Amino acid sequence: MSIILAKTVNEVKSQVKEWKARGLSVGLVPTMGYLHEGHQSLIKRAVAENDRVVVSVFVNPIQFAPNEDLESYPRDLKADCALCEATGADMVFNPEPEEMYADNFTTFVDMTGVTKELCGKSRPTHFRGVCTVVNKLFNIAMPDRAYFGQKDAQQLAVIRRMVRDLNMNLEIVGCPIIREADGLAKSSRNTYLSAEERKAALVLSKAIFEGERMVQSGEKDGEKVIEAMKSIIKSEPLAKIDYVEMVEWDTIEITRNLSKPVLVAIAVYIGKTRLIDNFIAQ
Ligand code: AMP
Repeated sequence: MSIILAKTVNEVKSQVKEWKARGLSVGLVPTMGYLHEGHQSLIKRAVAENDRVVVSVFVNPIQFAPNEDLESYPRDLKADCALCEATGADMVFNPEPEEMYADNFTTFVDMTGVTKELCGKSRPTHFRGVCTVVNKLFNIAMPDRAYFGQKDAQQLAVIRRMVRDLNMNLEIVGCPIIREADGLAKSSRNTYLSAEERKAALVLSKAIFEGERMVQSGEKDGEKVIEAMKSIIKSEPLAKIDYVEMVEWDTIEITRNLSKPVLVAIAVYIGKTRLIDNFIAQ
C-alpha cells in the first residue's frame, strides 16, 4: 500500500476516525519537511510504538518573524513522501497555509515562563506560532502519541508544558539528537551553509561536547562551563553567538546550579544561518 498524501484537514480527520473506530493507535510526527535522518529517527520510533503514523510536513508561517527565512526554507515534498513511506509512515499531511489559517484566523495558544529565555528571547513570537500549530495538529490528527526531537529542546519543554497545562490527552515522546558523522546536529537549515561555513559550523558541536565533558568529569561551577563553551565558539571567526545558556530543564529558568537537571543550549549564527544545539545534564 502506498502512503496517503493528505492536503486537507478533513481528509486527515476522516482517515484517523476510521483508524480509531478499528481500535488502532495513532502516532504523529510534526515537521517542517526537507526530512533528514533526525526526522527519520522520530518516524521510526512512532512506527514502532503505534499502529498508524501521520507525519505533518508544514512550513508554519506564524512561527517565523518577518525578517526570518520563511520564503527560503527548503522544501522537497516528493523526497519527504518517499522517506516517510520507506520508514513505514501511513500518511503525510501537507496543507497549504490557507488550509490551516483562514483569513479571519484569530485564536492563538500563548505561554509565559518556559518561553521567556533562549529562543523565546531572540524570537519573541516563535513559540506562540509553534504552540498554536501543534495544538491544531493534535486536534486534526488526534494522536495517542506525538514525537519531538531534543534537538529543539526548549520546544520539547514548551510542548510538554502545554499538554500538561491544557490537559491534552496524549503522550509526548522526546527523542535524542541525531548528528552528522563529524558531530554537527542534523538540520534542514544546514543546507544554507557554504563549504567554508559548513566547516565553521562544527564549532557548535565542539562547544557542546566540551561542556558535556566538563559536567561529566565533575565540574560543579556552571559559569565555568558556559565560559569554556563561549571561548570555543569565539575562536571561530565566522561564528557569532546569539546565546550560550544554562537553564533548569523543567522550568527553563536561568541557573548555574549543576546539582539539578539542566539544559545547556546554544544558538550561533554561522554567516547568516542561525543554528542551535544543546545537551542535557541530569
Ligand atoms: P523541524 O522540521 O526542524 O521543525 O523538526 C521537526 C521535528 O524533528 C522536531 O521535533 C525536531 O526537534 C526534530 N528534529 C530535527 N532535527 C533533529 C535531529 N538532528 N535529531 C533529532 N530530532 C530532530
